[in-house]
Amino acid sequence: MANCYYHSVSSVKKWGGKVEDYQPIHDWMDESKKLTTHFAHRLLRHHAEGCFAAEKEFGHTIMNSDNKAIPVRLIVEKHIIEDLGFIPSFDDWIKNVRIASWMRKGQHNLW
Ligand SMILES: [Zn+2]
Repeated sequence: MANCYYHSVSSVKKWGGKVEDYQPIHDWMDESKKLTTHFAHRLLRHHAEGCFAAEKEFGHTIMNSDNKAIPVRLIVEKHIIEDLGFIPSFDDWIKNVRIASWMRKGQHNLW
């Protein structure tokens, strides 16, 4: 799912309310598209820690326009699963980053 609008539509189907109720959370999830158009932008927030970071940003729940409290973490977990098919850890991402020599400067061989 490439566009945050469609993530928001999916959230409305799951929990009710309006697209606008969810759009800020999905926009925040994909905000890293500002940094790069490469799909690896997802490394920044599309992982288990990103779910908890979203709670810090938006609170544990949002109240949708149907006056229903929806857990933020569930919204973000669904976003990640729609994008990746599962919820990786941050470590899953890092272990799959191709290491360039400049990244190792001053470090012992860790990998
Ligand atoms: Zn995304």
